[in-house]
Amino acid sequence: EPGKHADLLDDLNPAQRAAVEHSGPPLLVVAGAGSGKTRVLTRRIAYLLGARNVHPGQIMAITFTNKAAAEMRERVSELVGRRGNAMWVSTFHSMCVRLLRREAKTLEMSSNFSIYDADDSRRLITLVARDLDLDPKRYPARALGGHISNLKNELLDAETAAAKAANDYERRAAEVYGEYQRRLAQANAMDFDDLIMRTVELFQAFPDVAEHYRRRFRHVLVDEYQDTNHAQYTLVRELVGTERTESGVEPSELCVVGDADQSIYAFRGATIRNIEEFERDFPAARTILLEQNYRSTQTILSAANSVIARNPNRRDKRLWTSSGDGEKIVGYVADNEHDEAAFVASEIDALADQGEVKYSDVAVFYRTNNQSRVFEEIFIRLGLPYRVVGGVRFYERREVRDALAYLRVLANPEDTVSLRRVLNVPKRGIGDRAEAVVATHAERERISFAAALREAVAGNVPLLNPRSQRSIASFVQLLDGLYELVESGVEVADVLEAVLERTGYRSELEESEDPQDASRLENLDELVTVAREFTEFADTVLEEQAEAEQDVDDAVGVPEPGSLPAFLERVSLVADADSIPSPDGEDGEDGEEDAGVVTLMTVHTAKGLEYPVVFGTGWEDGVFPHMRALGEPAELAEERRLAYVAITRARQRLYVSRALVRSAWGQPMTNPASRFLDEIPAELLDWRRLAPSNGSGSGGGSPRAATTWGRRSGFGDDSAQAGIAARGMRSTSFKGWKDTVALNLDVGDRVSHDKYGLGTVVSTDGSGPRATATIDFGASGKVRLMLIGSVPMVKL
Ligand code: ATP
Ligand code: MG
Repeated sequence: EPGKHADLLDDLNPAQRAAVEHSGPPLLVVAGAGSGKTRVLTRRIAYLLGARNVHPGQIMAITFTNKAAAEMRERVSELVGRRGNAMWVSTFHSMCVRLLRREAKTLEMSSNFSIYDADDSRRLITLVARDLDLDPKRYPARALGGHISNLKNELLDAETAAAKAANDYERRAAEVYGEYQRRLAQANAMDFDDLIMRTVELFQAFPDVAEHYRRRFRHVLVDEYQDTNHAQYTLVRELVGTERTESGVEPSELCVVGDADQSIYAFRGATIRNIEEFERDFPAARTILLEQNYRSTQTILSAANSVIARNPNRRDKRLWTSSGDGEKIVGYVADNEHDEAAFVASEIDALADQGEVKYSDVAVFYRTNNQSRVFEEIFIRLGLPYRVVGGVRFYERREVRDALAYLRVLANPEDTVSLRRVLNVPKRGIGDRAEAVVATHAERERISFAAALREAVAGNVPLLNPRSQRSIASFVQLLDGLYELVESGVEVADVLEAVLERTGYRSELEESEDPQDASRLENLDELVTVAREFTEFADTVLEEQAEAEQDVDDAVGVPEPGSLPAFLERVSLVADADSIPSPDGEDGEDGEEDAGVVTLMTVHTAKGLEYPVVFGTGWEDGVFPHMRALGEPAELAEERRLAYVAITRARQRLYVSRALVRSAWGQPMTNPASRFLDEIPAELLDWRRLAPSNGSGSGGGSPRAATTWGRRSGFGDDSAQAGIAARGMRSTSFKGWKDTVALNLDVGDRVSHDKYGLGTVVSTDGSGPRATATIDFGASGKVRLMLIGSVPMVKL
């Protein structure tokens, strides 16, 4: 009866309540940012469990990022306790991996398939394109990859693509697509798009399988529905069904929430069509609108509203809030990106000092990942604890990828891309030619590369010289020893240690004179730590599962917690663009010191999140909006939605900043103010510092351009750092710490730089954060470099 669950409903407004209580036909909740859409989803789950007697195992909730999934699970657990563990709360990708592993037999594939990320997939496409003799200038792998991905998002297979090809490029791309799929299959691997597409195929080709899951998941809930693409939409539709099946299974209940103004993944094929035509896709559907914003101040909301209002062809919706005007938005025009980062750091420091905020209340946003470096540099210098969300960087390091490639070969011997990656790493005398000979043999015999290697050992590969054959034999023997170790069931971390020892990877780095290799070793140790933590984490999962009395059935398709496949799955999925590189998936809480850390991330990653204090940085035309969008109305509209997302993450305070000069590709670029700055009503903005010369709004410059801040914090004389050091702050540990030291260089010093090689310092200039050195790199010429932060250079 209603009264009993009043607690689940009483802090909701009437529209939210209606969405939570709704039962039966498909439900769409559309509303602007911060209006409680995600809260409705979470509450709805709790209500299903608490008031409608739904079993947790009948619930499938789909979120856009792993972080969002972790948060939702946590919220629900707060409301219903451990019972929540039996639900499926995951991203589309994780959910598909799980389904595909369970149903691998049906699809006649093996359940230990590898998941290829963008980089692996590009490598494979490069190989395919080369074998098809395509000119890499006309057919760059990246472009082919994008093209194939778009086709998959539209659920078009290679044959269909070939049949539909309208020009030469599309015909060749379709050819690459076909061959790429063949090699993926041979390597027992899938890329991210395949995960979705194959699951759709599974449901469409095997109605009984679809029905099984429809019977099982009576409730499907999807957050951020505006960012689903055609393949994901079809997947949802297959999952819930649209009519009663012959054996009497009714469609499952579907609830999706979204906001067309926050659609920011068109580049991955997302389409707001899915929101706009929900009622056509699901004729009985009901739509509920939410209008009250509970997140932001009126000032922030007004800024967001007036920016997004510039977009054409949108349904206007006016959000309101009862929370009052709050602070004005603070604007800042910096001389360059270092100055901008220094402003952000000093402002965070000041707010923290006044006791106004904790570090964990603060987020710094930028448009593209590479912008994080400057912030990291200054944060490290000042000892401001932070973490970068986006995690790809650690997992993109060469040594980390090498180690993971070994593990992937151990989990899936057919994984060609990984196998070829480590074939001669560290160098063991299997050169390019030997590799090519084996690859050709594999092609000709239509066997996998792994099988061809074994053929080589048996002496069945012609044209292979004896020395290569011997090297291959000992490599295969090495792998066999490692397979045995995996079979014996030791922990992932120990397998990894064994890989590093037995391959000689570790000793090679240890013996190296190159100081960069020391940091490579540290990264590998870090990876071992990740693996150890993973095992500990898995142990708790096992305990929780036991307590949650999960369906026996549920264990199928999930790699055994703690196992090598489980570890690799975790790593692939967290290395997917939007996630965090730690097995706990939590915010970097700091143990006893609960001030937490400042979060740095791209705006894309920030979707769905909220922070009391937000710094929007790099608001320059050419940066945000992105250069690519400047002449393109559709892309510009997407950038504007991105700006809307950025602004609406802020609860109490919002900062927007830009730099007059920013270096891009090693060149200083003078960037004009972002047009989005002009779209924020001037009366909402308080410009803390303006550009020195003429101009209007957007920090263009006016007599108000007093640079008091610059003097007060005195970055020129290092007093800010001194101040922080004096208060005894410490910086937290994080990945990448090791290669971020300030270099003290003098004229005549010898250095080694990652890109330029060996050099000699010819002059130095500036001090503290502004220190630079001009270095003669011989053949690479003379280069002037900044000396703080993650300089890819060491003093010899
Ligand atoms: P976004 O579009 O950014 O994803 P959203 O619509 O999903 O936003 P939520 O994140 O669910 O919004 O909610 C925004 C904030 O407002 C959260 O802090 C949430 O707890 C709070 N909130 C939502 N509804 C209410 C309510 N009825 N009473 C009090 N607080 C609420
Ligand atoms: Mg949300």
